[in-house]
Amino acid sequence: MRQYDPEQAMVETRRVFGEHGGVVPSIERSSTFSVLEPGTMPEIFAGEKTPETGGCFLYSRHFNPTVNVLARYLSAMEGAEAGICTATGMGAITVAILQICKMGSHLVTSNTIYGGTHAFIKEVLPDMGVESTFVDPTDLQAIEAAIQPNTKMIYVEIMGNPKLNIADIPALAKIAKTHGVKLVVDNTFSPLILSPIELGADVVIYSLTKFVNGASDLMGGAVLGEKDFIFELMDLHTGRAMLLGPTMDSRVAFDITQRLPLLPLRMREHSRRTQAIAEVMQEMGVDVCYPGLESHPQHELLRSMVNESYGFGGLLTVDCKTVEKANQLMSVLQNKEKFGVIAVSLGYYDTLLSCSGSSTSSEISVEEQHQMGLSPGLVRVSIGLTGSLKNRIEQMKRALIEVGLAE
Ligand code: PLP
Repeated sequence: MRQYDPEQAMVETRRVFGEHGGVVPSIERSSTFSVLEPGTMPEIFAGEKTPETGGCFLYSRHFNPTVNVLARYLSAMEGAEAGICTATGMGAITVAILQICKMGSHLVTSNTIYGGTHAFIKEVLPDMGVESTFVDPTDLQAIEAAIQPNTKMIYVEIMGNPKLNIADIPALAKIAKTHGVKLVVDNTFSPLILSPIELGADVVIYSLTKFVNGASDLMGGAVLGEKDFIFELMDLHTGRAMLLGPTMDSRVAFDITQRLPLLPLRMREHSRRTQAIAEVMQEMGVDVCYPGLESHPQHELLRSMVNESYGFGGLLTVDCKTVEKANQLMSVLQNKEKFGVIAVSLGYYDTLLSCSGSSTSSEISVEEQHQMGLSPGLVRVSIGLTGSLKNRIEQMKRALIEVGLAE
């Protein structure tokens, strides 16, 4: 386990009070900002005056004070120099990739990633002259072998969606450094639990829509990394975030900022409950996958990378082998036991159930799903925080027995 303390880092970052001394920050809704002297405007456009250097704001697609507050807290949490927030996770992923990969570039990516990211890399990037190689993220030799002279980036999810396989970030960082490429890591599944920059990554990506917000009521994303990279993204003339415009609204930033102090409590509780439920499922002989179980193939690796006290996350999967059996299990869990709801996404305070192959990974062809070892009957369960744990365990046990996955 690592000694990095993301909670303490967040507490130590500069706080902003409300306009009238309120204990919460004000929401700055202005789309545009005034300057005292006309000469200041060209200085902002030339990048000589920024919110960091001169407290100067220009226009909310560029930097917005309320969105900046959230970006600063997230940067502290990740040990990053700077960050930006975006309207969605996909907004964060696409601008980060497009900033690093230009026409003629190549990227190496994990083959177990969110279906939307997979589709963007496979279907959209070639139209922009960017080629890619999909590799098993746990096969370090294959990753290194896939690097070409024009490779600019290695892209992985530290806890892969939906298989929950774990990427060895220190080892990948070493490979990335040796070959002069950037290591970009999506940490959506494991905020606070893992700190990719502390482990050697260059850039961290989030879908804030998931655990970080935690209420499934709004969308958001973030890119966090070195100051130079973040300012490149926001460059008024060439920045992909500035020019493609996936801007986060200040009211959304405010809401997420208000929920951030509870993230440590939530993550610990998601992990505690998921660990307990996964252990019971394993004892029942069910084909369950949870990174907190010693039976998980990368459990020891994960243990060596996690920050202390947050557990191993709020997601588990159960392999029902066929779509029919998966549907049966989800139906009993939702309609009979009220264990959770059948819906995509994750990180909500209620439990969410989805059959990955036919939902969030359906952008990936059946053949590729087979190659990456994704069973058609894999049910991804994002364990919530509601109800008594004892009762939740009983509900899960009864459902597994009813559909014949356990006796
Ligand atoms: N990254 C991961 C790991 C995801 O699971 C998702 C969505 O499910 C995304 C990124 C995309 O995020 P958003 O839906 O906020 O665009």
